[in-house]
Amino acid sequence: MRLIRKIDEMRKYVRERKNKKLIGFVPTMGYLHEGHLSLIRKARRECDEVIVSIFVNPTQFGRGEDYHSYPRDLKRDIALSEKEKVDVIFAPSVEEMYPEGYSTFVQVEGRLSSVLEGASRPGHFRGVCTVLVKLFNIINPDISFFGEKDFQQALIVKKMVEDLNIDTRIVLLPTVREEDGLAMSSRNSYFNEEERKAAIILYRSLKKAKEWIDQGERNSSRIIQKMKDFIAKEPLARIDYIAIVDSKSLEEVEQVERGNLIALAVYIGKVRLIDNMRV
Ligand code: AMP
Repeated sequence: MRLIRKIDEMRKYVRERKNKKLIGFVPTMGYLHEGHLSLIRKARRECDEVIVSIFVNPTQFGRGEDYHSYPRDLKRDIALSEKEKVDVIFAPSVEEMYPEGYSTFVQVEGRLSSVLEGASRPGHFRGVCTVLVKLFNIINPDISFFGEKDFQQALIVKKMVEDLNIDTRIVLLPTVREEDGLAMSSRNSYFNEEERKAAIILYRSLKKAKEWIDQGERNSSRIIQKMKDFIAKEPLARIDYIAIVDSKSLEEVEQVERGNLIALAVYIGKVRLIDNMRV
């Protein structure tokens, strides 16, 4: 496996292989866990070359968010990637990606990026789209792999790729969970024991919602209210949002239908977690 830190070297590597090989790409912020590894394994099965980027992207973090404390361990990520037979880790520095004077940003406008995470984290998707366009331009991947854990992000990236004619296929894979249902996330490493236990409230509330729907409840507002009441029983949890939306347009729905997305963001102590489930 190769570790590449310079954009020029990454481009050269790809240029030499591109015409013969199918290139798979897994963009991440590192501190790899089984969720990331599921994407890497899928890429390994489907592609000739697997490139994983590890870059904690400053432009997608808001003021007061956890950019500085975000967990980082490149050594461990290299070891895990090697085990999965990754061909290249691309881990540029912040200066390499955003040299002084950097001034171009990419934004998907409209509803997709202004609701849910977009409303709670202004500028977040602008940062995500900007770094991804740069990475797509550098790596030129045939297939790029994303997780449903960040469902809204995946919708926005698909839209951007379509609108800007970026020549990569977006593949979405299911959320990988801990045994008790907590969605895997690099941010789970922030938790103490008590918070870790409290964090399963997100998954449990989604499961509850599904149960109520299975029992015939269809009214979104009522389901959301019941989820709020359920989460309120966990003293460490504070809800940011809960929404039931159409899974293509992200429009809120009054009556729940098959395929709708239930999405929520909840603080456990100071840590903000997101999760979602398709109905
Ligand atoms: P991140 O490093 O958190 O930016 O995530 C990088 C990629 O891994 C994104 O496409 C995420 O959606 C995906 N991902 C993160 N957590 C999970 C998970 N628990 N299951 C599946 N994919 C995930």
